[in-house]
Amino acid sequence: MFSRTLGAFPARGARIHPVEEAQKARLARNEDLFRQVNEKIDDIAARHGDDAHVYEFFCECSDVDCSERVHLTLPQYAHVREEPARFVVVKGHVLEEIEHVIERAEDHVLIEKHGRAGEVAIKLDVEADH
Ligand SMILES: [Zn+2]
Repeated sequence: MFSRTLGAFPARGARIHPVEEAQKARLARNEDLFRQVNEKIDDIAARHGDDAHVYEFFCECSDVDCSERVHLTLPQYAHVREEPARFVVVKGHVLEEIEHVIERAEDHVLIEKHGRAGEVAIKLDVEADH
């Protein structure tokens, strides 16, 4: 039987093929894809209700092929999600053209999108709430 575990999420290998999108919008969409996967992980982890436990989340950088992980507690992850243009990525995965670093932690950095990429990130987040 197929069981829906954390390791079963297929999104990291799944490719999306947006056409006729500005490149920056496309990059923002890649990051939104990982945000959606991470939100599912957060949902599942939240049911166990342990704020001190460190969970593995996917790096939310622009590279669809990136499979690196970042390590956050649930309160740390909630902090990332406070702003729709805010993402968590591995150190060194910051694309300065479309985003800037707002916080640095032990194994990850928090970034915020600016310009067109920021607008797309916010729009996708709002749509996901409906
Ligand atoms: Zn990455």
